[in-house]
Amino acid sequence: MLTKTEEPKVMRDVIHGYIHIDLKIIWDLIDTKEFQRLRRIHQLGGDFQVYHTAEHSRFSHSLGVYEVVRRMVSEVKDLRETLDEKEKVYVMIAGLLHDIGHFPFSHAFESICDISHETFSSRIILGNSEIHDVLAKVDENLPEIIAGIIRYTYPNELLNQIVSGQLDADRMDYLLRDAYFTGTSYGAFDLERILRTIRVKDGKLLVKESGIHSVEDYIMARYHMYWQVYYHPVCRSYEIVLQKIFERMRYLYHNDFDKIKHLTMFLPFLDGEPTIYDHFYLDENAALYGISQLTKIDDQIAADLANRLLNRKLFEYEDVHKPEDEQRIQEEVKKSGYDLSYYCIMDTTSQSPYQPYGEKRGHVIWVLGDDKKIAELSTKSVIVQSLVKGDTKKECKIFFPKLI
Ligand code: ZN
Repeated sequence: MLTKTEEPKVMRDVIHGYIHIDLKIIWDLIDTKEFQRLRRIHQLGGDFQVYHTAEHSRFSHSLGVYEVVRRMVSEVKDLRETLDEKEKVYVMIAGLLHDIGHFPFSHAFESICDISHETFSSRIILGNSEIHDVLAKVDENLPEIIAGIIRYTYPNELLNQIVSGQLDADRMDYLLRDAYFTGTSYGAFDLERILRTIRVKDGKLLVKESGIHSVEDYIMARYHMYWQVYYHPVCRSYEIVLQKIFERMRYLYHNDFDKIKHLTMFLPFLDGEPTIYDHFYLDENAALYGISQLTKIDDQIAADLANRLLNRKLFEYEDVHKPEDEQRIQEEVKKSGYDLSYYCIMDTTSQSPYQPYGEKRGHVIWVLGDDKKIAELSTKSVIVQSLVKGDTKKECKIFFPKLI
């Protein structure tokens, strides 16, 4: 597991300068076909419809997460001294592979096929895949260990926290990377400072009290990125049209199968249990080809929705403040001859950048006080306290086609 590459490898990266690789197993994993598939998945789903430079892939994000983990376990003194050499490699691999199960268009697809990308990540790591072969060749227990860290069930919780806690390598990379590629400055925060102030105590990842300001900045970065980028209404519109395309395909699958039987890339996801083989072949190239084929079928709704997605004739939107707003738009959409179930969609989004009282483990950011006591972040930061106590920001919108 600790075998080195013949010489250290570096890959240029716009966020981290370089990605440094000197372990053979990391290099071999990057070379697998399942990891290379991530080049064909956009990191930000439909956001490239809003931010035209947001063309970066899950591939570059995954390398970035690996690099942040590598820096954490080698530069953060407490981690370097707490973890043994094997555990350092485990957590680097888990960082590299944490998004291996992603579907086309990122999260939008998950709601369509009702399977999370985390489930597929585990299946790929544990199943019949090149990734599994690389891991098992080195140590037959390794696939289970890596899947455990990604599922947050590995016995040493520190490793799980590094990959998917509140102050984890995943978020640290995607906030910086997504901010860069969308051209928004909101997501920027001081990664160097955070890395310098991370500590470990009682098996917990903490941040030193003097590092609070950079963590406040990081939480504010999340807040702005959620509303400016991740929940941008045009991006939601793209995802909603995509969801409706799949809803229509599912309807045709059960009621008029002949019309879509040639779209073999989608069929396993419309019914039954898709395998990791099906998952591998459904990248964004295949999905967009399938959607372009859909524009030619003899079904007005499917063809129209597919055209809208491909040619960016997305749905308009309006804020809904009272039930009458919804009724008024529904009537207008109906009058224009549209089927309401595909062409009039209510969508509510709410997000809080930091909620320390959630059920899920790893939800809390711990601070190591100057008095050496451990405290939850909002008890030490006035800014974070007001975010936690304040109302969760909510948006309710209705999406519908442009009405003439
Ligand atoms: Zn990720």
